[in-house]
Amino acid sequence: MHFLQQYLDAFLHLWYPHICLCCGTDQLEKQDVLCKNCIHALPYTDFENEINNPIHKIFWGRISFEYANALLFFTKDSIIQLLITQLKYHHNKKAGWMLGRWMGQFLMEQVKENPIDILIPIPISNVKYHKRLYNQSMILCEGIQSITGWPIMDKVLRKPFESASQTHKDRIKRMEAIGQSFILEDPHPILNKHLLLVDDVLTTGATIEAAAHLLQTVEIKKLSVFTATYTI
Ligand SMILES: [Zn+2]
Repeated sequence: MHFLQQYLDAFLHLWYPHICLCCGTDQLEKQDVLCKNCIHALPYTDFENEINNPIHKIFWGRISFEYANALLFFTKDSIIQLLITQLKYHHNKKAGWMLGRWMGQFLMEQVKENPIDILIPIPISNVKYHKRLYNQSMILCEGIQSITGWPIMDKVLRKPFESASQTHKDRIKRMEAIGQSFILEDPHPILNKHLLLVDDVLTTGATIEAAAHLLQTVEIKKLSVFTATYTI
């Protein structure tokens, strides 16, 4: 029954009726999930205008990113929470694709001087993948790509395989405790490239830091990070 409800939610939001997820108006572009007024009123971080960009600060002394930013604040009971929940738990890929498009439009302005070569979505575990059937960061990347045309490489980083056995769970916990949450596959396609790590929510930055450390073990040109949202 729960699954059916989720399926219905996704179906309704995707196909019928086509209304703004936030205010309910039907005056919106076909490809959008929010109307223009609601898009304009979103809680943008505007960190790009701050001298001490808080996203850079999170990683100070640990990772030096070429460019680091988050598009929106993630606040509880907000339209942003709704969009992320739709993307992660209600199979609403369109919500993520839309977020990705906003990210892409923003990035086109922000990284003009410092072009991105490759988008790298932060991987999710196989357990989550089987539940969700997609990686939400990959959907964001697809939205970004629809605006920028930048290639996506989702096989470079991988989460170790998780199984239900306690031995496996313990092993993954131990790996995470020493910052090894990911495995780096064939690094050749990323050598001497400017990589942009993409994720949906940035909180402590631990996941992104683990991914960044691993990518920096090989010869890349530059490393940047951009997330859809930032939790205060
Ligand atoms: Zn609206």
